[in-house]
Amino acid sequence: MKRFLFALVVSSLLSVVQAAAPDIYVAYPDNKAKVPFDHVLLEGSVTAGADLTINGKAIDVGLDGLFIEWYPLAEGLNKLEMKTTKGSETGSLSYEITSNLPKPLAETPTAIDVDSVEPYANHVWYTLENGLLEVKFRGSPKGTASFMIGDKGPFKMLERTAADFIGYNPVQAALELPGMYEGSYVLQPNDSFDAAPVKVSLKGTDGNTVNLTTDGKFTYKPLSQPRVGIYTAQPLDGISSSTQVARNGFGRAYILYPREGSKFVVVGEEASVYRCKIAPGQIVYVRKDRMRLLPEGAPVPNQFFTTIRTKRLENRTQVKFFLSDRVPHSIDHSAQTNSLEVKLFYTNSDIDYIVSANPDPLIRDLRWSQTADPVTTVKIDLKQAQLWGYTVFYEGNTLVIELRDPPSISKSSPLAGQKITIDAGHGGEDSGAVGALRVNEKDIVLAISKQLKASLERRGAIVTMTRETDVEIPLLDRSIIADKAGSSVFVSIHCNALPDGVDPNKNRGFAAYYFQPQSRALAQTIQDAVRTLAPEIGDDGTHYQNLAVTRPTQMLQTLIETGFMTDKSNLRFLMSQAGQFKIADTIAIGLERFYRNQR
Ligand SMILES: [Zn+2]
Repeated sequence: MKRFLFALVVSSLLSVVQAAAPDIYVAYPDNKAKVPFDHVLLEGSVTAGADLTINGKAIDVGLDGLFIEWYPLAEGLNKLEMKTTKGSETGSLSYEITSNLPKPLAETPTAIDVDSVEPYANHVWYTLENGLLEVKFRGSPKGTASFMIGDKGPFKMLERTAADFIGYNPVQAALELPGMYEGSYVLQPNDSFDAAPVKVSLKGTDGNTVNLTTDGKFTYKPLSQPRVGIYTAQPLDGISSSTQVARNGFGRAYILYPREGSKFVVVGEEASVYRCKIAPGQIVYVRKDRMRLLPEGAPVPNQFFTTIRTKRLENRTQVKFFLSDRVPHSIDHSAQTNSLEVKLFYTNSDIDYIVSANPDPLIRDLRWSQTADPVTTVKIDLKQAQLWGYTVFYEGNTLVIELRDPPSISKSSPLAGQKITIDAGHGGEDSGAVGALRVNEKDIVLAISKQLKASLERRGAIVTMTRETDVEIPLLDRSIIADKAGSSVFVSIHCNALPDGVDPNKNRGFAAYYFQPQSRALAQTIQDAVRTLAPEIGDDGTHYQNLAVTRPTQMLQTLIETGFMTDKSNLRFLMSQAGQFKIADTIAIGLERFYRNQR
């Protein structure tokens, strides 16, 4: 921000001395960019007061020089000759943008796109569990396709057609579906594949046949003894729940948070992950570099447990599960039922002993049920509608869930004494979204964050900033800073921008993001405050999204998108001192309302 102001001062001094030639700054895209769309978001600015033409056509430029265009592209290379004029002075810039729209392959000659063939990684099955083998490729449309696994087959593959996808965008369908062939195979009990290559075959309308062997190979070697893996990664201090994850499919959603020492039954491998079975019909994927396979013959994790105990400590309540071995677990917080549901996998239970601290300010009731063999489900009913964060860790083999007390909130000034962390997004090498008016997201959000700090401090809050200068901070470190400061709320400040291929004229407004149910009311209250008190920004809603700064559970965390840098009025608002003050003050009002509502 400072450097930018200095540059402005210098250039305005120069303009007094002599009318310098106006310049053209293109913030996005880069020169010689290639985009897979028929439009590109073209944004930047010319010298204030100058105009701009591209290939002779006048472009809509503001008095401040800002232009944001949804620029139509012809197929292939587009040359953009930009000219700017101010008074008698002119400037120019030549630009090239290539539009490569995704297209089906030609019907003839018969061909297969080598890069499109799946599986591209090796798959290994130790059991029939999840034994579905999927094969895909893109080739010439209207052909006849099949695949072989080793010398088994051929098996049919079908070309996808728009008729198979009711409601599919017809334009998209015409571009994406022709020539997409898919097939699958279900593992059979007496199959035996040892790194079997998968061969796909396409016979085209010209009568030619093209064969290709995939990079990924299939192995199915049934084991007579199960394989057991032990999770080896340690959690990061303070944000354990967001650094350790298993997924319910390769590259898919997070499902549970393993801990160092948790054991899993491993039923297969896929690229860089192990496929693990944690319950009947429930498979999770765990990164290979975070798991060590135990020697063959290691017993499967399976234990019996009988005792749960709650314990009151200063400012928090612990729920302790006394186990004899570490097991994977999942925790679902439901704001609707006002409860935490804890699933302990590989456990069978006859819990006849629950010891509760009495009275406990946070917990109304604890119940257990055997929801599957071997899954024990424990439901923790909460007394208060708002949960203020929790952490999960092992003490030896005892799993501990620690619930945080609500902060004490003053009636007259709800933010007085409240510890809040403000996280100005990006910084240093990471500029965030580019700014058409020559200031990038990292500088705008830092300016807004400083205003927000001042606004909150005027209301008596104790504010921690993750950064106050132009430095880069890893995403997870930001939550650790908040945790060390003892904050009850973490607010990450960002500006939005559109990805390639989206019309900037249709997207603007303020949005609040949350992931954990405990943070929903916080995000919603801030969103409501801005929607009603600063309607000029526009309303982009409250969003549920799994992000590095919304995932942690130990405090309430929200990410704010203050507005779109790809919308002219939003960008001007976010760049102006008045706008920065207003948005910061309105977020502070939202936070104040949230704390007041929780009294
Ligand atoms: Zn951002």
